[in-house]
Amino acid sequence: MKIKFLGGAEEVGRLGIKITDRNTKVMVDYGVIPEKPPEFPLPPEKVDGIFLTHSHLDHCGNLPVYYQKYEAEFFATLMTANSVRPMLNDSIKVASLEGYPQPFSKDDISMLYQSFRNARYGETYELGDTNVTPYSAGHIPGSTMWKFENSTSTLVTGDLYTRETNLLNGALPVKADTLIMESTYAGREHEDRDAVVKRLRSRIKEVVETGGKIVLPSFAMGRTQELIMILEKLNLDVSVDGMGNLLSEIYLGTPGFLRSQADFRRASGRVRKIKGPHMRERALEDSDVIVTTSGMMDGGPVLSYVEQLLNDDRSAIFLTGYQVENTNGRSLLETGTLKIAGASVKPKTMLEFFDLSAHSGHSDLVQFVKSVDPKRIILCHGDSREELLPDLSEYEVILPVNGKEFEI
Ligand SMILES: [Zn+2]
Ligand SMILES: [Zn+2]
Repeated sequence: MKIKFLGGAEEVGRLGIKITDRNTKVMVDYGVIPEKPPEFPLPPEKVDGIFLTHSHLDHCGNLPVYYQKYEAEFFATLMTANSVRPMLNDSIKVASLEGYPQPFSKDDISMLYQSFRNARYGETYELGDTNVTPYSAGHIPGSTMWKFENSTSTLVTGDLYTRETNLLNGALPVKADTLIMESTYAGREHEDRDAVVKRLRSRIKEVVETGGKIVLPSFAMGRTQELIMILEKLNLDVSVDGMGNLLSEIYLGTPGFLRSQADFRRASGRVRKIKGPHMRERALEDSDVIVTTSGMMDGGPVLSYVEQLLNDDRSAIFLTGYQVENTNGRSLLETGTLKIAGASVKPKTMLEFFDLSAHSGHSDLVQFVKSVDPKRIILCHGDSREELLPDLSEYEVILPVNGKEFEI
């Protein structure tokens, strides 16, 4: 079996893994580093099938470019397929707003769907001489680990989360000879999730009781919906703005992926959906809590809410997601300032961080490896992969580099 990373071996982003076993070539993911402008993986190489792990841009953001040059069957869960389209359309929109070239068009996105094959968790599909089975990766709804079986068996995790959340069950280990695993949090642990959720709920209550409002900048996919469920118990007036509302509709229209479709439907029915600027003006007045994109505060409706609260020291901004370098969210955490319409501002609002990450922490990654118990592990999608080596000393571990094919 031969493996080549077209991207994402040594970094978080632009993942593309080409696997050749006997007569079948497959590629897992083909993403970008979603910066401004984005960074791309190496050019596409011809394969028989593309297997998408999930709909975050670092995994799917460059897929339409592949179909400009080649054809290949496109395997994904229905939830992933339904969520990818708005993400790709949005990346075209962002590129034109920011004024940098976008390598694909809406027509290219449509091409992708002409090759779509709906893959259901636990069912096995044939592609040439390879058998392929998808399993839930626990990361966001529809996220998939792919198991390939030919001369040998290989499990590719994509982004991985093994603990239960309000929205999803954690990923379960699947036996395989070779494990290709993400390592975003190598060397770092998360605070206990139940404790974080408890602290978040109680801080929100305190702020509201003293007459303040809370803005929760949130990723549209997965995080917005998890927050909707976390907030339900508090019985507050919650508004949701931005692309999260569209993703919630997709989640409700694509049954079979959430821990409880009924629970999410009920929680989602209790929030006000902000549709357009006319509702946005009144939203702060009417709400205790606003959940809104973008999660790193680099655009989207979140900035208009922050702008209205700039001088309100009773109100708060609570960040719940990782803030990438050079984003407004990171700048706010590190310096207390952010940029709105080009101007640097220093909000008087309270600012706190709650770690609701959907990536497994260091110990959970090690535990996952031990449960899979593979012959070898290939670590990718991380910039501190070596940190896992001491805890995986009884295994053969490979740290691949982009562009260099190797054989196992
Ligand atoms: Zn992801
Ligand atoms: Zn990722």
